[in-house]
Amino acid sequence: MIFKLEHSVNQPVILPQNKGVALFVKREDSIHPFVSGNKYRKLKYNFIEAKNRGLKTLLTFGGAYSNHIAAVAAAGQNQGFKTIGVIRGDELFNNIENNPTLSFAKQCGMRFKFVSREDYRNKTSQAFIDNLKKEFSAFYLIPEGGTNPLAIKGCEEILTKDDANFDFICTSVGTGGTISGLINSSAANQQVLGFSALKGDFLKEDISKFVTKTNWKLVTDYHFGGYAKINEALISFINDFKKDYQIPLDPVYTGKMMFGIYDLIEKGYFPKGSKILAIHTGGLQGIAGINAILKKKNLQIIE
Ligand SMILES: *Cc1c(COP(=O)(O)O)cnc(C)c1O
Repeated sequence: MIFKLEHSVNQPVILPQNKGVALFVKREDSIHPFVSGNKYRKLKYNFIEAKNRGLKTLLTFGGAYSNHIAAVAAAGQNQGFKTIGVIRGDELFNNIENNPTLSFAKQCGMRFKFVSREDYRNKTSQAFIDNLKKEFSAFYLIPEGGTNPLAIKGCEEILTKDDANFDFICTSVGTGGTISGLINSSAANQQVLGFSALKGDFLKEDISKFVTKTNWKLVTDYHFGGYAKINEALISFINDFKKDYQIPLDPVYTGKMMFGIYDLIEKGYFPKGSKILAIHTGGLQGIAGINAILKKKNLQIIE
């Protein structure tokens, strides 16, 4: 059941050559197929807050392949909420059946409001939200990607006491909520490394707003050209990784992080004897949508 599981397993990864470091993957992806990884953590306290306020509808925002949209739809249904998804791109209106994420969310009872990319940019403005309130009446608003102080509180529960013996905690970064929770719950002698899934340096500022510690770093060399941009090298890496360790990775977040960790290990970034914990933040529901695009382009797909 949703919101019952507290801790996931740290799975060791046997590195191909002896690099003098140990790597483990925290399988947060195994929490739930659709409410997986960090999205589960980010929703937990928001759901409790919505219930405390007596609100029966959740409204949130996302793109066509959003893990967050899938998670809110599935967890919302499970917990008896009505859900509304404000979706970027009004051309998707006629195309729900061809989009695995949106079809799934619809099956979970989510209602959609499709908006143009231009309008979507204004989604945090008071005028935009007032209009949504007029249209849908009372709802609990969860921001895009789910990041707010309650989400960060949930992400503080990813690390356990036993994880204190790791020197490096690695995570993928989208809006910065997950890494902020990890930083808050990390020990001072641990380094938290965030692998940015987006181009641009603005995330550093966003994260700084949520944390007071300084034992963290944003790694910006492994976004592969930007959010959801992929290439053959990344797909091959993801497929090899699954073959070698039976750990599936997604191409938007965890695949890029793991590619980055491997590259940094290769370059000797981590001191000999380092123990590294990579958080598998989930996101596997997004693979079907990306594969449909890759197939259309006659490219290698994720197996
Ligand atoms: C949303 C997501 C992230 C990014 O998390 P933030 O808290 O937004 O930084 C990372 N990995 C996966 C799989 C995600 O779905």
